[in-house]
Amino acid sequence: MLIVQKYGGTSVGTIDRMRAVARRCLATQRQGHDVVVIVSAMSGETNRLLALAAEIQAHPDPRELDVIGSTGEQVTVALLTMALLELGVKARSYTGWQVKVLTDSAFTRARIVSIDEERIRADLNDGTVVVVAGFQGIDGKGNITTLGRGGSDTSAVALAAALKAEECQIYTDVDGVYTTDPRLVPEAQRLHTITFEEMLEMAGAGSKVLQIRSVEFAGKYKVPTRVLSSLTDPDLPVTEEAKAGTLITFEEDPHMAMEKAVISGVAFQRDEAKITVKDVPDRPGIAYAILGPIADAHIDVDVIVQNVGHDGMTDMTFTVGRADYAKAMKILKDKVQPHIKCREVSGDERIAKVSIVGMGMRSHAGIAAQMFRTLAEEGINIQMISTSEIKITVVIEEKYTELAVRVLHKAFELDQV
Ligand code: ASP
Ligand code: MG
Repeated sequence: MLIVQKYGGTSVGTIDRMRAVARRCLATQRQGHDVVVIVSAMSGETNRLLALAAEIQAHPDPRELDVIGSTGEQVTVALLTMALLELGVKARSYTGWQVKVLTDSAFTRARIVSIDEERIRADLNDGTVVVVAGFQGIDGKGNITTLGRGGSDTSAVALAAALKAEECQIYTDVDGVYTTDPRLVPEAQRLHTITFEEMLEMAGAGSKVLQIRSVEFAGKYKVPTRVLSSLTDPDLPVTEEAKAGTLITFEEDPHMAMEKAVISGVAFQRDEAKITVKDVPDRPGIAYAILGPIADAHIDVDVIVQNVGHDGMTDMTFTVGRADYAKAMKILKDKVQPHIKCREVSGDERIAKVSIVGMGMRSHAGIAAQMFRTLAEEGINIQMISTSEIKITVVIEEKYTELAVRVLHKAFELDQV
């Protein structure tokens, strides 16, 4: 059976750690598995490379940025392969374009279109461990592309999907997915399983364990994906190891659902900003007139609230990442305001989003009320609210983030799961 393993930057951060990774690959192979390994660049390396580019061009040319950014992974595949060879394991490294991982041409955030598995299959059939560079691909015209920060997760899940692997194991510096960030709430618990839908909402709501696109891929192709720690004993059998991680599942097992807490996690995102466009005419096309130019500038908008119209006028408020705030304000003031003749564009750069996520929300009433009461008891004002079937997000003043996360974690008894 085929196992795809992905190791992040910390897991290959030193030569010793790479040796440990090689031992784990060997242990997996000894269990009778075919092994494909995806690696990231050594920790800090991608940042270093991108900073070099920024020294020359304030806004580096995206095509060239990908040529630079992709080199970190080329180093790790070769080093890890050497470590495997030293252990007497047959191994061979490949870059993304050798394999080949075909992507679209959106430099720095390309999407995978297809993967040609032929070469990998041939190696596997002959007992070779295949080591593939994460984060990178090639577009239809032969240009090097990268998949966005954290993109090696997506490389791994996409390869696992293409190869129909039994499991995609994402090894990282945490030992799984937690009910919230343990750095903020020490009582946070590791989840043994999480559904793909919850994982997607958690990633979208700020949980940084996996790149969101990798979760989308896992869901689309039903790739059993497991998050686990690479910092444990590398010679341990994989099945033992597996018990320690978090498995992303695709159906909610009704028995488990009954025992499970209603909420699976509390996610948060600081670095957010909110923008309000006041007194715009309440007529068709207004939301598009405001948000169209923002989308054209590739700025992601999240919580969007439009007031009920009054006297033919209405207000619209939405959030953007703080890094995009200045750009979004400029577009609205220079391009949108003169066109739609709204009264005012104002904003607040000191907000955060806090979300509770859980499949249990579907079958339990009163979850939102419990969330709002918990925040009210701490005197935390809710500025905006948005909901999905399995997530409730509130926008609050940034300084209350930690408090909000703590009290919600406790209120929903996540310290006891
Ligand atoms: N090395 C790339 C990054 O730092 C990709 C990855 O680590 O997944 O974003
Ligand atoms: Mg990562």
